[in-house]
Amino acid sequence: MSEVRVRFAPSPTGYLHIGSARTALYNWLYARKTGGKLILRIEDTDLERSTKASLDTIIEGMKWLGLDWDEGPYYQSEHSAEHTEAAKKLLAEGKAYKCFCTKEELDQKREAAKEAKAEYGYDGTCRNLSAEEVAEKEAAGITSVIRFKIPDGIGEVVFEDKVYGRLEKRYSDLEDFVIVRSDGSPLYLLSNVVDDLRDGITHIIRGQDGLGNTPRQVLLYEALGAATPIYAHMPLTLDSKKAKISKRKHGEAVAIHFYREMGFIPWAFCNFIALLGWSPGDDREIFSREELIENFSLDRINRSNSVFNIQVNDPKFFTDPKALSINAHYIKTIDISELAGMVKPVLERAGIWEESYEGEKREWFLSTLDLIRERFHTLNNFAEGGRAYFDDSYEVEERALKRNIVKSPELREILPKLGERLEKIEGFDGEDVEREMRAMAEELDLKPGTIINGVRTAVTGQLAGPSMFAALGAIGKERVIDRLKNVDWLFKKAEAL
Ligand code: GLU
Repeated sequence: MSEVRVRFAPSPTGYLHIGSARTALYNWLYARKTGGKLILRIEDTDLERSTKASLDTIIEGMKWLGLDWDEGPYYQSEHSAEHTEAAKKLLAEGKAYKCFCTKEELDQKREAAKEAKAEYGYDGTCRNLSAEEVAEKEAAGITSVIRFKIPDGIGEVVFEDKVYGRLEKRYSDLEDFVIVRSDGSPLYLLSNVVDDLRDGITHIIRGQDGLGNTPRQVLLYEALGAATPIYAHMPLTLDSKKAKISKRKHGEAVAIHFYREMGFIPWAFCNFIALLGWSPGDDREIFSREELIENFSLDRINRSNSVFNIQVNDPKFFTDPKALSINAHYIKTIDISELAGMVKPVLERAGIWEESYEGEKREWFLSTLDLIRERFHTLNNFAEGGRAYFDDSYEVEERALKRNIVKSPELREILPKLGERLEKIEGFDGEDVEREMRAMAEELDLKPGTIINGVRTAVTGQLAGPSMFAALGAIGKERVIDRLKNVDWLFKKAEAL
């Protein structure tokens, strides 16, 4: 079998979004699985809507996701001469024709069809003009477009889609479509085919929205005397209310950078979007890069639409449980120094990064990350729920305040006293601290849990977290004592609830 050549062909008219990232990923997986090539082609023929900024976010997004390509980027706009050349060839072979119908004439016919509640399709007025008639119109200076001739007679375009199976479209349901505008510029449908032919594309893996174009594109391949590539169209991705995910409705929440900024690990995100439309055939959810490449196949792309739990009303409030649990899995299991490299920019952005974390405090930094990562779902959690480990400017969770502070006003005096007590002891390992806390609880006839939970909230701002004594050890004696002695702010907050 000849080499597999697939392409990712984004139009640079917006940022890299979930749908296009998934297209890029599936093409990348297929290329890597088959030892083929992935070509990056920028479909920038819509000059008005294409922007450099969009192109940059697409490339940046691909790089962030770790999806490397083997050829390109190629730019569609650099090949328009070839596209029109192909149209001229079709014209010369009688497979396309010049159409002189004016916009007004076509609009009128469209209106008439609408009034008659009939479906509009180009009626073929110019389909059979003689060479003389064409010459006459041209001599009279009437401009023309080039239309592709749908084959005559009763017949149908048939193609096999790897996902949707055998699909057919009757010729009579297709109109002679424009392939070159009156200003000589080629139309997208044609450019896309000519580029795929030139780039030697063997498999077209794209979104389901491309399915409508496919019958006409198959006809173009046939007319150009080329074999059609293999198609695999991917299902739509819907939101939790089963509406199509769109920029208009969900805003930034469809953009890849939204997830990067939220603290997704790139491969965790790839792992997650791989499952939006593909399944391994069992209930596995975690795949390393190698495992996904090995397991991926076009046959296992689902036909049914997938659901991505973006909140319709508040996209910033992200709760997709599968995405978060996959990310949490990677946070928990990734090599700790790799994690440190990912947490660094998060702490930097939060203004709580210290150079010493890469120097004399490196060991402390790594063991602290290891201690707290167990409960985190995103990298940003390290600067949020984990903030108290790195800085004194931490917030307190409302639920922690309600459960551990509001209900135990006696702690207002007890916690500073515990601080003083801890100041007097020699060591500061788990046992020392535990002994002091338990002794104090006994003296005051309190449940040890009341003090322990109060300490957790006072020192970390959290309701739950890693083992309390390990947490205190990581935060350090001086800081812990300081926080216990100055616990009043918590009670003020609790009063203001
Ligand atoms: N440029 C097209 C898009 O972004 C790609 C269509 C295709 O893959 O054929 O939707």
